[in-house]
Parts: sequence; structure tokens; C-alpha cells
Amino acid sequence: MEQKKDINQIDIPFAKRTYLDNNKSTFLKKILIFSPFLFLIFSLIFLRFLRTIEGTSFNILNPQNDINQDHRIFGHLPYEEIPKEKLVLIEPNIEVHIDMRDSLLNMREEAQKDGVYLVFLSGYRSINLQNEIFYSLKSIRNQEASERARVSAPPGYSEHSTGFAIDFGDSMRRDTDFEIEFENTDAFRWLIKNAAKYHFKLSFNKNNKYIDYEPWHWRYEGSIEALKVFETSNR
Ligand SMILES: [Zn+2]
Repeated sequence: MEQKKDINQIDIPFAKRTYLDNNKSTFLKKILIFSPFLFLIFSLIFLRFLRTIEGTSFNILNPQNDINQDHRIFGHLPYEEIPKEKLVLIEPNIEVHIDMRDSLLNMREEAQKDGVYLVFLSGYRSINLQNEIFYSLKSIRNQEASERARVSAPPGYSEHSTGFAIDFGDSMRRDTDFEIEFENTDAFRWLIKNAAKYHFKLSFNKNNKYIDYEPWHWRYEGSIEALKVFETSNR
């Protein structure tokens, strides 16, 4: 009786019900039992398919952009903004990720012992600030986004929003701030020789085909969190 009740709840044309009532109905019953699993499997396949389609159509819409599997825009990887509680102020207007504070300050002290005076030009920048920098400078310089992206990251794509990036200057050569010429300063030469000891790395070297060389821009990779943040970039 119980079995009949179940079958009656299924919307099957009356003429076919005789088939269910006899012993040959086991196949259909098996399908009914496995249907939730089949549904799950098909849903997963469908979701994967949707994601593929989504990725492809995005590329079709922006054929000139370098948007590939790691979601770069003009060669810049996306970065999340650091939570406020992980930021520390190390001097007026310079905030950095708490993980890199000690190493950064130690490095500056050690450089001083060698007669090199590092200046911190820019540390953490919020996505809002990056938005202003990217769009205001872009319009002032009459550049298209792709040109601008060679020298500045689009908002949401800057290493500065992670708190792990720092721009250095040389206190004896302030004319070289944010200039390629910075590579000819004592500060840069010292960094190239010593920064790795403090877990700092030049982010955009001369071999980067998308982003212009930035000798002043370094990032910290001395904590697990920092390594996770830059994992894609280092791949
Ligand atoms: Zn920078």
C-alpha cells in the first residue's frame, strides 16, 4: 500500500501507471532514488559551464584588455583593501601593514648606518584614493586608461591597497622622487643590494611587459599573509 501511495503522488499519465504497478518498475524507482544526485551533478556541470561562458564573454567584450585567468587589467592584478585594524602609522601620512613595519624601519636604520637616507613616499593607499589618482591624473594628462595604467594601477588593482607596498625616495636626491632617475641614486643601489634581507622585492622590474619600470616601488613578502597576497603575481 505504501508503495502505491508514493507512486500516486507522481504526476504520470494514468495510462502509464500500470507499468509502475508491476514488477518491472524497479528501473524507474532507481531513477527516482538517484534523481537528487543526478540533479546535483548536472547542476555542478551547468555552473561550471556558466562560469566558462562568463569568462569568455568578458574577454570578447574587451579584446584589447589583458584580462585572462588571473583577472588582470592592463597587466595589473586585483588586490583587496587591507582591513583598517592591520594598518599602522609609521610617520605622518605613511601607513603600512603591521606585518612589515619592523622590517621596514630596521631596513631604514641599517641604510642610515651606510650613509643612505631612505624616504618613504607612499605606503598604504585606499581604493578611493587610488580612484582619485588614477582618474584625476588620467584626465589631466589627457591619457587613455591603457596608457595611464602603465604608470599607475587602476583602483582595486594597486599593491598599495594591501599595505604591503612602499615607494622609496632618496633624501639627498628628492628630484628623483617617482622618476626612473631614482635608479641612479645611492638609495636604489643600496636597496638592490640589501632589500631582500628585509624581505622587500622590486615589484615592477624592467622585464614587465605591461607596466613601466618603477625603481621606487617595492613590496614586502616577509609574512605568510603577504606571500598569499602576492602568490598570483609570483606564479
Ligand atoms: Zn608605488
